[in-house]
Amino acid sequence: MDVYLNKCDDYEKSVEKLIKILEPYKNKFEKGDKVLLKPNLLSPKEVEKAVTTHPKIVEAVILFLLDLDVEIYLGDSPATGSALQAVKANGIYDVCQKYNIPIVELDEPIEVDGENYKKIKISKKVLDADKIINIAKLKTHSQMILTMAIKNTFGCVVGKEKPAWHLRAKTNTNFAKVIIDIHNIVKPTINILDGIEGMEGNGPANGKQKHFGVIGVSENAYALDHAVAEKLNVKEKYVYILKESMKKQIIPEYKIHGDWEGGKIKLPITAPIFETFTNLSRAIQRVPQINVDKCISCRICENSCPAEAITIDNHSIDYSKCIRCYVCHEVCPEDAIDLKRKIFK
Ligand code: SF4
Ligand code: SF4
Repeated sequence: MDVYLNKCDDYEKSVEKLIKILEPYKNKFEKGDKVLLKPNLLSPKEVEKAVTTHPKIVEAVILFLLDLDVEIYLGDSPATGSALQAVKANGIYDVCQKYNIPIVELDEPIEVDGENYKKIKISKKVLDADKIINIAKLKTHSQMILTMAIKNTFGCVVGKEKPAWHLRAKTNTNFAKVIIDIHNIVKPTINILDGIEGMEGNGPANGKQKHFGVIGVSENAYALDHAVAEKLNVKEKYVYILKESMKKQIIPEYKIHGDWEGGKIKLPITAPIFETFTNLSRAIQRVPQINVDKCISCRICENSCPAEAITIDNHSIDYSKCIRCYVCHEVCPEDAIDLKRKIFK
């Protein structure tokens, strides 16, 4: 399996570079194919925050496809807000307008069975696509430790079903299995990783912007994500999705092409320190805590919490209900959820 990891420090130069990397994949498409572009549109954030896929990367993919006489549309189901709000906030909207690309909300659920989990509500607009191009962002993730190409297809699950899966899965290991099931249902034709500007620390929304200077491409997201983690010196055993992928033996042998040398990444404070600690009991896991000085009482966390553990009226979290999924931390627009170590008896 080929994995391309090409150094690129500048979004202005990324369009030409990415089109060139994509050249060998032209034969994957047939005239008239309905092609869904699935960027990372986690929430409506300005492009400078590096939360969402950069518009230049999306533009490169559109330009690559324009020659192929296919029907292109772009969509996602963000964690907060709508796909339209997210593309308007980060500039993808203008790119879609320029090339007349429809923007769709990934709604209209259809139940599909995965290998481990049944009745996963995937958007009809995903299932209707002949081909999917997964355009992910390289970031840390407080629950899954890293989010790259495999995790990005979780956005194909409709709206509130996403937090509901956190509750059904309960543990990080099980949630990784859910993510793998979803990725295998969506099965993108090409996986692209926007890692020019990404995120480290307590991502995927409230970490620190980090320049990685890489564009990644592969037909296989498991190979792509594994290769990037290795280049960042992050062992797969600390990244729940990669650890489960190893156990399932679904990471193919791969060959890396390109001139990116890799680098360092600061993992979230929720990351396990030693492998043996990955399954430590809830008792010593970090827990969310509302920072009342920053909180604007928007209730986004309260409405997104799958365990209904948050009461914003008195800024409290019921830790007996909390499943430590950190969705509240991910969706908070004010970075008002702290992740604290707390010892429970
Ligand atoms: S999402 Fe953040 S700002 Fe909004 S209510 Fe929750 S803690 Fe407060
Ligand atoms: S309080 Fe936060 S971490 Fe706990 S279950 Fe709710 S969303 Fe998840």
